[in-house]
Amino acid sequence: MDRREFLKGTVVGAGVLAASRMAQTACAADAPAAKAVLKLCSQEGKIPGSSLKEKAENILKFGGCGLEFGGMDVKRAEQIRKDLDGTGVGIAAMCCGSFADKQNGARPVSMDPEVRKRGLDEIKRQLEACGVLGSTGVIWVPAFNGQTKLKPEELDKVLADILPELAEFAVKCKGKLMIEPLNKGETFYINRVEQGAFWCNKINSPGLVTMGDFYHMSKEEKDDEAAFVAGGKWVHHVHVATGKSRILPNQEEHNYRPGFKGLKKIGYQDFCSLECGKKKGTEWADEIPKTFALLKQQWEEATI
Ligand code: MG
Repeated sequence: MDRREFLKGTVVGAGVLAASRMAQTACAADAPAAKAVLKLCSQEGKIPGSSLKEKAENILKFGGCGLEFGGMDVKRAEQIRKDLDGTGVGIAAMCCGSFADKQNGARPVSMDPEVRKRGLDEIKRQLEACGVLGSTGVIWVPAFNGQTKLKPEELDKVLADILPELAEFAVKCKGKLMIEPLNKGETFYINRVEQGAFWCNKINSPGLVTMGDFYHMSKEEKDDEAAFVAGGKWVHHVHVATGKSRILPNQEEHNYRPGFKGLKKIGYQDFCSLECGKKKGTEWADEIPKTFALLKQQWEEATI
């Protein structure tokens, strides 16, 4: 992409609000490539088991078919792949956060070139692991509240600078960088699915994708169905929790049908993964099967 043209586009869309409208227009016309599937999984830590093999057996027993992991090195990625080989359990995203630290703030988006380079190198290490693991992508939040003094317009420019390089690197190592929109209580920057999709459209590389999280969406999206449709082909992971207390879906009222309708409309093929807490005094092993059953029921009821 011509760099001047790229930057011009960024200025026109300065501030993610204006930008996001363009994403919606660009994606709405995308027809789904395949019939959507509901693949339920969970972050690894919630699944009981003293080994990955046991966790794999349990997630299948609970009615799921995948596991989501945190950040890791290539060595662990190789080990996980080996451990899960033949279990029938898939590998979802790697949940990695902002790659910030207390001293240096949000490193990949830092204005200090050395600090930024360290941040980018760290993302690249995770992208390498992602490729080896065969994971859907490395989930990244550009900055949580309090991690940077940059304004959204300034962060737009930083993202325009770093994302082409990261996306290209991701493609090279068969990984994906995945922008996660969060609610305003956690970040002032990129709050809605269409804002994540704006950057994917802009960079237009299979190495950069986005996702939705039902908990954050309940605070930021007017319409979950429209949000996923706006995200279109760029949506490659979904986090599942209730909107109010961010707990297991069977433990608090929450309507997933509108979001599921959106996922069906875009022919969603990736995982829906539990990222949530649970009510005090309840056990994951008792509750997750009920949660998966409820989600499967609402998926069936979400007719398009
Ligand atoms: Mg999340």
